[in-house]
Amino acid sequence: MKIAVYPGSFDPLTNGHLDIIERASSVFDKLIVAISINTTKKTMFTLEERKAMIEVAVEPIKNVEVVIIDGLLVDYVKSLKDAVIVRGLRAISDFEMEFQMALMNRDLAPEVETMFLMTTHRLSFLSSTMIKEVDKFGGDISGYVPPNVYIAMKEKRG
Ligand code: ADP
Repeated sequence: MKIAVYPGSFDPLTNGHLDIIERASSVFDKLIVAISINTTKKTMFTLEERKAMIEVAVEPIKNVEVVIIDGLLVDYVKSLKDAVIVRGLRAISDFEMEFQMALMNRDLAPEVETMFLMTTHRLSFLSSTMIKEVDKFGGDISGYVPPNVYIAMKEKRG
C-alpha cells in the first residue's frame, strides 16, 4: 500500500489545499493530511479545530485520514514504512522554501522521498494568510475555502 503524507499548517484549509488533497488521494492508496505544529506562525485556529474542519471537508474522499503530529515530520513518515511526503507547489516563489525543506528532510532521512504536486492555476494565488487577510477586512472568501471553513471563519470573527 502506497501512503502519502501531506503536511502543513492548514490555518485554515483552503480550496488550494483541497485541490492537492484530491490529486494526491487519486495517485496514492492512502493520503494522510498531517497538521504540524508550526512554531513560527501564530494561528487563528487550534490544532483540534483545524483537524475537525479538514475531516468535514474531506469526508467525501474515502482514502484520506487527518492527524496531528508534534515531532519531526520525517520520523512520523518513517514510522509508516514506505510512505512519501507530498507538498503543493503554487509558484516559483514556493520553490526556494520547499527545496530547502525537502533537502533538509532528505538529509535527516535519506529513505524518505518528497514529491510535489502542482495546483490548478486557478487556485495558485491562494494562501491561508491571504484568506485571513481578505476576511479580516470584510472581503468575500466563500469561493476560496470549503463551506464549513467559511462558516468557522465567520464564527471566529464574531
Ligand atoms: P506550511 O506552513 O507548512 O507551508 P501551509 O498550510 O501553508 O503549511 O501549506 C501546506 C502545503 O500546501 C505547502 O506545500 C503549500 O505550498 C501548499 N499549498 C498552500 N496553498 C496552496 C495552493 N493554493 N495550491 C497548492 N498548494 C498549496
